[in-house]
Amino acid sequence: MRKPIIAGNWKMNMTPTEAVYLIDELKKLVADADIDVVICPPFVDLAVAKKLTEGTNIKVGAQNVHWAQNGAFTGEISVAMLKEIGVEYAIVGHSERRQYFGETDETVNLRAKAVLAAGVVPIICVGETLAQREANATELVVKTQTIAALNGISADGVAKLVIAYEPVWAIGTGRTATSEQANETIAVIRNIVKAIYGKAVSDAVRIQYGGSMNPKNAAELMSMPEIDGGLIGGASLRAADFAAVVNYDKR
Ligand code: PEP
Repeated sequence: MRKPIIAGNWKMNMTPTEAVYLIDELKKLVADADIDVVICPPFVDLAVAKKLTEGTNIKVGAQNVHWAQNGAFTGEISVAMLKEIGVEYAIVGHSERRQYFGETDETVNLRAKAVLAAGVVPIICVGETLAQREANATELVVKTQTIAALNGISADGVAKLVIAYEPVWAIGTGRTATSEQANETIAVIRNIVKAIYGKAVSDAVRIQYGGSMNPKNAAELMSMPEIDGGLIGGASLRAADFAAVVNYDKR
């Protein structure tokens, strides 16, 4: 059985002071959750987030990471820096990074490998655009992105990491994939993992859905057999909303 994992991607929201208020409220509301709960604040909030979540069931993740250990990469953050403050997850290849910051399948793979090598869990994002879905290219796109992202990663590594299926047309748009669409595409991703790494690994790897997931649709999405969790953007910015998604099975 795969343990569900709900992660909040705060994107470029919340100053360190605002983060204090949000986390303070959130930790009470999710204290009884028996799933993995992760928040991914901006880099400058990570230290404060780690401090405030100490002794709670909330884990902290970063929204991106560079693959080099250190060096002349102005503006970048290494996994060693994240590790030192206790960050346990790192999102890689979010569609906003692909769309606005030149992220490619190759750099997603480099980041994922560096993150895993440091003992941090990558949350690798894949997903098709609206034009690709309308051209019936969804399967091809998610397979290509998944194969490229996992290139050179061992079976052990793949079993530990998290994949987030995020149709680009559903992110921040209020338009959610139907639970059937999400389940179907996640099955495609799990099958490609199975073809490369075998059944034990494809049974172990956790695959989230992301794209306008919220308190209203979380229970239905989470009831689907292939969906192991959610990557939540907008709804992670209000403690009550994020907690309602985390507690999808308690209402
Ligand atoms: C995301 O940014 O990963 C995301 C799914 O955003 P939203 O929930 O706002 O669609």
